[in-house]
Amino acid sequence: MDSEQLRENAHKMVDFIADYYKSIENFPVLSQVEPGYLRELLPDSAPNQPETLQNVLDDVQAKILPGVTHWQSPSYFAYYPSNSSVAGFLGEMLSAGINMVGFSWITSPAATELEMIVLDWLGKLLKLPEDFLSTGQGGGVIQGTASEAVLVVLLAARDRVLRKLGKNALEKLVVYASDQTHSALQKACQIGGIHPENCKLLKTDSSTNYALSPDLLSKAISDDISTGLVPFFLCATVGTTSSTAVDPLLSLGKIAKNNGIWFHVDAAYAGSACICPEYRCYIDGVEEADSFNMNAHKWFLTNFDCSALWVKDRNALIQSLSTNPEFLKNKASQANMVVDYKDWQIPLGRRFRSLKLWMVLRLYGLENLQCYIRNHINLAKYFEGLVAADSRFEVDRPCYVCLYVFLFYTPDWTSDLSNTYLFTDKTFLTRSSYSILFICNTFNFTKLADFC
Ligand code: PLP
Repeated sequence: MDSEQLRENAHKMVDFIADYYKSIENFPVLSQVEPGYLRELLPDSAPNQPETLQNVLDDVQAKILPGVTHWQSPSYFAYYPSNSSVAGFLGEMLSAGINMVGFSWITSPAATELEMIVLDWLGKLLKLPEDFLSTGQGGGVIQGTASEAVLVVLLAARDRVLRKLGKNALEKLVVYASDQTHSALQKACQIGGIHPENCKLLKTDSSTNYALSPDLLSKAISDDISTGLVPFFLCATVGTTSSTAVDPLLSLGKIAKNNGIWFHVDAAYAGSACICPEYRCYIDGVEEADSFNMNAHKWFLTNFDCSALWVKDRNALIQSLSTNPEFLKNKASQANMVVDYKDWQIPLGRRFRSLKLWMVLRLYGLENLQCYIRNHINLAKYFEGLVAADSRFEVDRPCYVCLYVFLFYTPDWTSDLSNTYLFTDKTFLTRSSYSILFICNTFNFTKLADFC
């Protein structure tokens, strides 16, 4: 790496990115290209000779950006928030700059130690029970995604029970969650070898605002035990993907505990809100959980990817995921003096992701982060009021944080809107042939206000 060459080119790149943000509102949010568009624009093979950065940036402008769906646009309301920030961006930059691979403590002690400290900080901001902090038997780890988080804890829970019952019990193991649970759980079950019929997604409905019913769970567990099955894993969600439903953690957790079931809480999206005391109640009952996950890359100003996972028993993860080949052995690991995060995750290699979360926490501070969350929620409430007061719309489900579900009665509007605004879903509902369901993340709002 030639540092002067880096300085010159990196300045150009930062200018390019800053200009992109300056003009981001001019792009259609949803990319307008057809499938395969890029193959027609780029050569068939890599160049033999080096090209200039300017040439590449010209191509990015002309050929790549048209194929980008602009998640950072203020007109973007789809799926879930994925807010970047200056602090998150700088942290990414620093991580790319240092470019170490921190799988074991010895491969870069600061990477492991900062990750432990920053996740303790964030755990304290969320008022997680002390058992989740690194000072005890538990601790936090940054995974790439919530999908990886639920996979690793499911594997830990599976192996914990198989150590007791023997490997043949695998086909009897049962997982529970609501039918609103993210498909990440289903994927984890597939990878974990759980029999497809034993991944039980219990029915929810509007009577519980789409939250998992503890009674239904208790009954399912008793029925399964009576037929010789082995309940071993429960996944509750705080802020489901389609309507931000909040499962009742306390009651579910007690049922899990009474039945020796690993209790995982997926707060991938809504977890960020819990840094505000007035929204902390969404995770009341997390004390009963064995693991808890929230995506800092969703609504916590930390650039993708940064999914924070806490466990109460780090040994459960390590027993399931650890390998110890000769080439990785070192004094600190052998003496059991350090955390080696390679044993808490699927891959070996890992990036210095805690830097960006550290930057976010330090450059903004708790008060500003709380203000940011409150502002989004207030905007969403304001929007809810506008929708409720307008006869063209019908409020479909209560808005807990910023995800908003409403019905829309004038289909003519949809073609206009789809060019400017990207919504998650446009589903024709059976109960009214002309109504259209919009699920929309009002976290950004600047443009959403325009069409009300
Ligand atoms: N869980 C919930 C509640 C989600 O909303 C999502 C994503 O939308 C996920 C899990 C999956 O997240 P990831 O892409 O980090 O795996």
